[in-house]
Amino acid sequence: MKKILVAGAGGFIGGHLVAKLLYEGNWAVRAVDSKPLEDWYQQFGEAENLRLDLSLFGDCEEAAAGVDMVYNLAADMGGMGFIENNKALCMLTVLINTHLLKASSDAGVERFFFASSACVYNASKQSDFDSPRLREQDAYPAMPEDGYGWEKLFSERMCRHFYEDFGMEARVARYHNVYGPHGTFSGGREKAPAAICRKVIEAKLGRTSEIEIWGTGEQSRSFMHVDDCIEGTLSIMRSENLDSPINLGSEETVTINGLVDLVEDIAGTKLLRTYNLSAPKGVNGRSSDNTLIRQVFDWEPSISLRTGLETTYQWIYDQMASGIGRGEVR
Ligand code: NAD
Repeated sequence: MKKILVAGAGGFIGGHLVAKLLYEGNWAVRAVDSKPLEDWYQQFGEAENLRLDLSLFGDCEEAAAGVDMVYNLAADMGGMGFIENNKALCMLTVLINTHLLKASSDAGVERFFFASSACVYNASKQSDFDSPRLREQDAYPAMPEDGYGWEKLFSERMCRHFYEDFGMEARVARYHNVYGPHGTFSGGREKAPAAICRKVIEAKLGRTSEIEIWGTGEQSRSFMHVDDCIEGTLSIMRSENLDSPINLGSEETVTINGLVDLVEDIAGTKLLRTYNLSAPKGVNGRSSDNTLIRQVFDWEPSISLRTGLETTYQWIYDQMASGIGRGEVR
């Protein structure tokens, strides 16, 4: 039985990936995260669950020992509010990828997956509210999101060089805004869909009748459900001859105002909107061009935003109604 390491397994996407790999049943799974085990968003007794700090080379050696495949989803990250205010912390994630690549290569790992981001794309291609969808080649010339995006772009290149110099294969997916159950919805690292669900639910629970929107709300984005993210991640990792980064995101574009409309509709409520123009709001228009992923896999993320938000809203509602909140998401 092949052994798979999931780094960042205590987080949102890592937890879903471990669940899927265990469900497939063909793998021995080692799940690693730096958080105390009780703070992992999902945890499975069938996996080998280890608390290690993967920014340290020694801990990476322990994590990679005896492993055939590595999925690196470990990062110090969050939504726009976090990455705009914590650029050094985001860039320090380079230690995780650097040390994990080296330890994996030393341990004879066959293939390494790196979760990159749409934040690598050149900012000048995202300055209009209706900017064209981003194609893989739009990452260069490089002008990525300051801090977080630079780290991702650098680590993408390091994956390639580890293949060229040491022969360890790597697969790199550029995720575009992933959302779904078991994600962060409070505490400052949450992303727009979860933050908006939380704000609408706070109103439903009688705590407020207003919703604050960051920016004008005209910014456009695409959001991918975590189930699509996991399916795409596995396909990308298991594909042969995919030697360059590939978009993994939805082409369904929505404005932030449109996202609020959707969540209000699901909740059966209407709130008074206020706009905080000095809050972090990111680029004006960003979405995924899926030409390449369609060509390679005859597949692309397909869960509609409406459908995905319904289950996400319900999950966050249940957490909040039962008193789980800020920084205590399980
Ligand atoms: P997350 O924050 O929920 O999970 C990341 C996990 O990494 C956390 O549990 C954290 O404790 C762990 N971690 C941080 N530092 C560590 C260290 N030194 N050692 C071990 N573990 C450490 O994030 P996520 O949403 O699950 O994202 C997973 C990956 O996908 C990240 O690389 C992220 O940058 C990338 N990504 C996510 C999105 C998205 O929308 N969620 C978009 C683009 C890219």
